[in-house]
Amino acid sequence: MKLTPYWLDTATPSGDYRRNPVPERADIAIVGAGFTGLTAALEAAQHGASVVVLDSHTVGWGASGRNGGMATTGLAIGLGKAIKRYGQERALEMFSEYNRAIDTIEELVKEHSIDCDFQRSGKLTLAMNAKQVGQMRQTQETLAKLADYSVTVVDKQDLHSEIGTDFYAGGMVDPLGAGVHVGKFAHGLAEAGTRAGVTICENAEVTELAARPGGGHAVRTTRGVVNVDRVLVATSGYTGSLTPWLQRRTIPVGSFIIVTEPLPLETVQRILPRGRQAADNKMLTYYFRITPDNRLLFGGRARFALSSPDSDLKSAEILKSAMSTVFPYLSSARVDYTWGGLVDLTMDQMVHAGERNGVHYSLGYSGHGVQMATYMGKQMALSMLGKPSRNLWEHLPNPAVPGHFGPPWFLPIIGGYAKVVDRFS
Ligand SMILES: Cc1cc2nc3c(=O)[nH]c(=O)nc-3n(C[C@H](O)[C@H](O)[C@H](O)COP(=O)(O)OP(=O)(O)OC[C@H]3O[C@@H](n4cnc5c(N)ncnc54)[C@H](O)[C@@H]3O)c2cc1C
Repeated sequence: MKLTPYWLDTATPSGDYRRNPVPERADIAIVGAGFTGLTAALEAAQHGASVVVLDSHTVGWGASGRNGGMATTGLAIGLGKAIKRYGQERALEMFSEYNRAIDTIEELVKEHSIDCDFQRSGKLTLAMNAKQVGQMRQTQETLAKLADYSVTVVDKQDLHSEIGTDFYAGGMVDPLGAGVHVGKFAHGLAEAGTRAGVTICENAEVTELAARPGGGHAVRTTRGVVNVDRVLVATSGYTGSLTPWLQRRTIPVGSFIIVTEPLPLETVQRILPRGRQAADNKMLTYYFRITPDNRLLFGGRARFALSSPDSDLKSAEILKSAMSTVFPYLSSARVDYTWGGLVDLTMDQMVHAGERNGVHYSLGYSGHGVQMATYMGKQMALSMLGKPSRNLWEHLPNPAVPGHFGPPWFLPIIGGYAKVVDRFS
């Protein structure tokens, strides 16, 4: 079993940027070579800025190369909760923004001819019980009435048209959700960026952002210093002591994935006959999809732990057992890949993006970063260049997580709480 993400293992690297010299000067430095950083770099370079992307590891090494590859519609907190929290008008605007973000991926794929299996295969949300099916009907009504947006609720008796299991009580299909090979997408963005003039420096950990007296920053890395006018921090769940203010506002939650061996076509068609991007409605959700080469990718918050080889192997055991519970006919399927990564959760599960002490940032995608990181990268580039941009999240309250100063000691407590909620909901 490989402990590397399937997506990175099956993507051709766009280049080897590990020895690219760190330039002495650039207009913009971006910390993090994930979707936020790479999209921001591409956009800024297309507007004529000189841009350097710095990453401690390699392109897509963070959550962008480790996720489920699902660009799914809707807000992380759901439209109903958003209306209660922010009022109808703002909530609907936020809802549309998330969907516009998927359009952004589609546009980038088209504009830069990125071969990354982007497909609007639809999102399938699965209910654990009849009460959740009822809630889906309410969501369907709300979406139709307030947003003129159409989703389909599937009752239990019809559910086999969508998924080959009796584990769930019903489901809701949103046709606009999409799947993407995120390894190929990340490397496609890197390639488009370098074509537009972006310098990518891998193995270059940023250790200090020192404000310069005349404005801008001296960005110190383990491979040299670059003086820049603007800095964008795009470190999501990997945000560390470089930016303590952001670290205290970001909860890095481990999420884990297994990928099976390639499966026979008839098994694939039994699992998800319409090839949807699926996730259930538990707090400790399972999410799954078919990969472009007919494997089942099955993920979840198997354990409330951070990712490490040992942790990933333990999670693989838990996920294999979960996969066999949902799809008993896969109990003898070989697992070829397992890995884990950090999801950038925030207290309110909303995106947080803006500028603080001259440093720009965007993170907090809370499990919706495939599209939101891509979208916000573009918006942050426009904003840094003083061009019209959209940032609906700029003025959201963004309190620190109480007691959070470094490694997230509180994860097991959150995990225990989520398990109790799932048992009794
Ligand atoms: C297992 C898993 C499954 C997920 N599934 C989905 C999904 O299906 N759909 C969805 O929408 N979202 C999903 N997400 C979330 C999504 O992947 C992320 O929100 C998104 O990729 C964040 O992108 P990013 O570019 O902001 O950060 P990342 O891709 O995490 O990149 C951050 C980068 O910053 C670098 N870095 C950190 N500190 C420094 C430093 N000091 N110096 C230099 N570099 C530094 C890291 O090396 C890393 O490469 C999932 C996440 C995980 C972990």
